[in-house]
Amino acid sequence: MTPIFRTDLLIVGGTAAGTAAAAAARRAAPGARILLVDKGQDLAYSTCELPMYAGGQIANEEALVRYTPEAFAAAFGVDVWTGAEVVAFGPRDRSARLADGRSVSWQRLILAVGARAHIPDFALLGPGVFVLRTLDDARRIRDRFHSAPPAHVVVIGAGYTGLEAAAALGHDIRVSIVAPGGRLLPSGLSEPLSRVVAGRLTAGGRMTIRAARATGLDRAPDGRPLAVRTDDGEKIGCGAVIVATGIRPNTEVATSLGLRLDDIGAIRVTTAMRTNKPHVWASGDCAAIPEAITGRPRWIPLAMNAFRTGRVAGRNAVFSLAPSGGRPATLAPAVAAFAVRLAGLDLAHAGLRLEEALAAGFTAEAVDIVGASHSRTLGGQDVHVRLVFDARKGLLLGAETVGPPGSALRMNTVAALLRLGASVDDLEASDTVYHPDVSPLHDPLRVAARTAQKLLARSPVAR
Ligand SMILES: Cc1cc2nc3c(=O)[nH]c(=O)nc-3n(C[C@H](O)[C@H](O)[C@H](O)COP(=O)(O)OP(=O)(O)OC[C@H]3O[C@@H](n4cnc5c(N)ncnc54)[C@H](O)[C@@H]3O)c2cc1C
Repeated sequence: MTPIFRTDLLIVGGTAAGTAAAAAARRAAPGARILLVDKGQDLAYSTCELPMYAGGQIANEEALVRYTPEAFAAAFGVDVWTGAEVVAFGPRDRSARLADGRSVSWQRLILAVGARAHIPDFALLGPGVFVLRTLDDARRIRDRFHSAPPAHVVVIGAGYTGLEAAAALGHDIRVSIVAPGGRLLPSGLSEPLSRVVAGRLTAGGRMTIRAARATGLDRAPDGRPLAVRTDDGEKIGCGAVIVATGIRPNTEVATSLGLRLDDIGAIRVTTAMRTNKPHVWASGDCAAIPEAITGRPRWIPLAMNAFRTGRVAGRNAVFSLAPSGGRPATLAPAVAAFAVRLAGLDLAHAGLRLEEALAAGFTAEAVDIVGASHSRTLGGQDVHVRLVFDARKGLLLGAETVGPPGSALRMNTVAALLRLGASVDDLEASDTVYHPDVSPLHDPLRVAARTAQKLLARSPVAR
């Protein structure tokens, strides 16, 4: 019989949240036995740079790897097992079973199992059909596009992974993006701003955006893709397909633990990253965390949240074993904030989109303006801004920008204000730097805030 490995803390999943949890747990409890397991062979790498590695803009894989498993184990004094997939948990005896038959007995458990690509049945992966989620996925795409570059690739889905893959791979080959309604970055950008981005992406003629839903894939007998079929009856011939149709929390493995999940399957946690079960914490893309504007749990699968929630879970899980002085850690409610650069355009958003704000019960409205990145005499370019706000109280609820490189950093101001529960007036009153070469006297964010103020002044709803 395989012996049972005993540990104080078991962390399932490496990459971002799991490694952050392990490092924080080690700092908080120098003597604790910590085991970090990951089903992949790579433990700690920059997921966000995968598109650039797949597309060849980042030449060396070493540049992506933060720690090899051995280096991580040595740096933090933890046991690290890679190629170690947890397939089941003993609901009553605090144990975990691995795919290779090994068993682990733990006192405290952190789930940092992340998210996985959601792949429609018709698009199952095979030769020439890829997803981009892990370093292994990026290696596969890179190898294929280097050794036998297809003349035309179809990207199914226009979330940021699909768009980034399209931009990274589309330097030398034709790319078609298939997206329902032609909407780009639907989780972050409104229709008008999506159109601005579409205009830029398709301007060079190498990229096409097909406003349709992909419904099927014709394949050669050896599995290679021949054409993507769409719901408007078209067949788009191609030599490779990137499936970027969204992600889902990876929580099936934890079913037997009886954890409380939200409606998309993310684990509900407190600001201490505690689940509803004693001895179990969760962090990163598998968890739904308290959100700052609505005060409700929200799934925000982004890198910063993975690191932050990992640190909180790591400290608290070992703190509960043997309080080491100080206080347990608390996660400040999060603001969803994201930016991406595509074809020389920065796209950024923070907080709630108009639809999300309305669904959350706000009397939300939006204004759209176009300002300048800096003096137009000195080459300033359009910065498109959408501001979402509450028409009753004048509260700031969210923002989107599309503009030249560097313009996305404005979103950090918005995200900071959103966290503080600021109003449109606060944004308008914000001090912004002015230099003709850097930023205009009337920053586009403040122009948008002033436009919203005018609307609020006319609003029949008393504030
Ligand atoms: C291509 C791409 C680009 C991105 N760009 C950005 C960006 O620019 N900005 C941003 O904020 N975010 C970005 N993200 C999102 C960000 O990378 C994620 O939010 C972050 O990686 C989540 O970290 P995580 O540790 O929670 O999950 P993951 O990175 O998914 O890691 C989970 C780990 O758990 C392991 N695992 C799962 N199940 C098991 C099991 N049963 N047993 C053992 N191990 C298991 C997996 O192998 C994996 O290594 C990007 C993501 C991708 C894919």
